[in-house]
Amino acid sequence: MALHEPLIDSFGRIHTNLRISVTDRCNIRCFYCMPLENVQFKPRNELLTFEEIERFTRISASLGINKIRLTGGEPLVRSGMPALIRQLIKVPGIEEIAMTTNGLLLEEHASDLFDAGLTRLNISLDALSEEMFEKIARRKGLDRVLAGIAAAKSVGFKHIKINTVAMTGISETEIIPLAKFAREQDLHLRFIEFMPLDAEHNWENEQVISGQKLREIIEQSIGELSPVKQADPNQPSVDYQYADGKGKIGFIDSVTQPFCVSCNRLRITAEGQIRNCLFSEIEWDAREAMRTGKSDQEIIQLMRDCVLAKKKGHGTDTPGFAHPDRAMYQIGG
Ligand code: SAM
Ligand code: SF4
Repeated sequence: MALHEPLIDSFGRIHTNLRISVTDRCNIRCFYCMPLENVQFKPRNELLTFEEIERFTRISASLGINKIRLTGGEPLVRSGMPALIRQLIKVPGIEEIAMTTNGLLLEEHASDLFDAGLTRLNISLDALSEEMFEKIARRKGLDRVLAGIAAAKSVGFKHIKINTVAMTGISETEIIPLAKFAREQDLHLRFIEFMPLDAEHNWENEQVISGQKLREIIEQSIGELSPVKQADPNQPSVDYQYADGKGKIGFIDSVTQPFCVSCNRLRITAEGQIRNCLFSEIEWDAREAMRTGKSDQEIIQLMRDCVLAKKKGHGTDTPGFAHPDRAMYQIGG
């Protein structure tokens, strides 16, 4: 329910989508995201409380934000997610609340999340062999993710998406099994290109398997893919369908085909820093504003400043690009 002018940046992009990180903690250690050891998590008192998240959501909705995604770190390691969803779904103007999860704790929480009103679920899964899962996640847990997917389906979640990061020298054996699994299970698989947001700063361009390459591999083994009309012009994935009509598959080509031109996303980190891009070097401190008694109007101004400073593109393909200090788990993917 927008009461104010929408959040428009200097390139005319209207921001209607907010990604809220609820924690920087996680129960696995994907090498493309977190460090293996000595992770410096934020102390609890630095994280936004549910009341602060609700206030920020309410202010965002007054500026035209209508979709929320809860992410992290792993959102389900923070207790009380169903309660938070219940709070946020009541905010006038919020039409959809989604969550991105690694699925490890989903089996026990799926039913409560569904009942609380979670509208969409994205589950990350990079491998179907235990050996490869462990190599990527640096923890065990494939069985639990698969049980989480089954639970999510059985409690009634529809249109579940599976997020897969594919990397050279690692994922080649997983691509076809994952594509077949998704088709059989009626899941919408989406491949995300590996971005330079790993905490250990080991990312190299050669490790990225492009969406184009993935499509070729899948077409050779499973069958022809044809593009599907975009359901949402701001969606990051380009979707394809199989010629036999059985299933859809999407490609988020963030590195080889950046979608910045249609990006309508704003982010807030678990400790309340507003960001206009995953690759942004600047943050706007909403936590400090809220904890020092700033008015809604002052927080609106902070959000507008953030959005107005948004660059045209993430610039990972430009010569001066520097790997950001903050890794994916600290921002909220
Ligand atoms: N823990 C949850 C999960 O893994 O689904 C939510 C947070 S995670 C940071 C959100 C998404 O970001 C996941 O799908 C993950 O695969 C993806 N991701 C993390 N690091 C990435 C990277 N360097 N490049 C591309 N995607 C990445
Ligand atoms: Fe955890 Fe998600 Fe990062 Fe993997 S991608 S380490 S599951 S936050």
